[in-house]
Amino acid sequence: MSVLDINKIRRDFPILDEKVNGRDLVYFDNAATTQKPVKVLEALSNYYGHYNANIHRGIHYLAEKATTAFEDSRTTIQKFMNAAHKEEIIFTYGTTDGINLVAQTYGRKFLKEGDEIIISTLEHHSNIVPWQMLCEEKGCILKVIPIDDNGDLILEEFDNLLTEKTKFVSVVHVSNALGTINPIKYIIDKAHAIGAKVLIDGAQASSHITIDVQELDTDFYVFSAHKLFGPTGMGVLYGKSDILNAMPPYRGGGEMIKEVSFEKTTYNELPYKFEAGTPNIADVVAVKYAIDYINELGKENIAAYEDVLLKYATEKLTEIEGLRIVGQAKQKVSVVSFVIDSVHPQDIGVILDQQGIAVRTGHHCTQPLMKRLGIPGTSRASFAVYNTTEEIDKLIMGIHKVKKMVL
Ligand code: PMP
Repeated sequence: MSVLDINKIRRDFPILDEKVNGRDLVYFDNAATTQKPVKVLEALSNYYGHYNANIHRGIHYLAEKATTAFEDSRTTIQKFMNAAHKEEIIFTYGTTDGINLVAQTYGRKFLKEGDEIIISTLEHHSNIVPWQMLCEEKGCILKVIPIDDNGDLILEEFDNLLTEKTKFVSVVHVSNALGTINPIKYIIDKAHAIGAKVLIDGAQASSHITIDVQELDTDFYVFSAHKLFGPTGMGVLYGKSDILNAMPPYRGGGEMIKEVSFEKTTYNELPYKFEAGTPNIADVVAVKYAIDYINELGKENIAAYEDVLLKYATEKLTEIEGLRIVGQAKQKVSVVSFVIDSVHPQDIGVILDQQGIAVRTGHHCTQPLMKRLGIPGTSRASFAVYNTTEEIDKLIMGIHKVKKMVL
């Protein structure tokens, strides 16, 4: 079934031994955040227990060791995304932070009244609101690529939206609510053809899909460490160095400066220009171990196994009467959103939780998408490499129980 030893992988994630309401935990909320392998947990305690120090500014042993580990993570991420230069990797607090950084620096400096920004119906709120805030401030106009009923972007409509007024395109690589994989290479090339810059929200893609920013030729790519087995509160903004160099800094403070006087401050070079203050050192250090873990398993192997889980779950869920899968895009990652006739998603979540099964219910921070689909929300099961078909069987049994209890 898979070249991966799933039982061995499960042993790498201690939380999977937890009992919830007296049952074995079945964790199907991976699109919200993934669990952490022992290597990441050890990296965190090792850092705090053995070489905790502030970075870049110290010459003592611990400061140098912490700085080396911190910068090693940057190199690991550079390779992970195939970025041309190490300084193109900016550490942030997450996807949301990365998008706000670009909107507030690139957007404020380079976009002006009447310029158009294109996003899509599939966006997470974090790739809508920062652009709306910018539009409000600068008088730009937000345009939205529509989707069809399967949850695929309507590309002809995207083509029609592109005009000489389009200055920025910001789209999600993979939809967190439906699992749709967007044709981002097409979007990037089309946007570039009319001179617009592109940001890709890779929050959901980074653990499932190989990212090659040079091949994609994207201007910006953002993701969060916690979605790929790393810690929360740590993320990455990739940007092309010439664009990052042209952008003003985001937050002011220590580390991002070259020289400060009361008359004038000059700014540090990349990447430090965008990393004001003491960063999230431990979490940056630990993310390297999460990426090493993914690399050891092999992203293609992970994706192939998750696809088995997706197909199995889709088939089994489809057999349940009154259940409808929301989002049947041509290309999907291992996310299944569903609704059941006359049952509120919240009730599904609560009753499944009683059986130890963690799914997410609600609008998944995609309220405009839910509005387009004509539903208040869905129940969403999202799978990671440590999940099994046996666990999916438990979900199916759980849903039958929901129906019995509610209907
Ligand atoms: N975009 C997408 C597609 C997401 O799934 C998420 C997280 N649910 C985000 C952005 C925001 O990520 P974070 O909360 O880590 O900043």
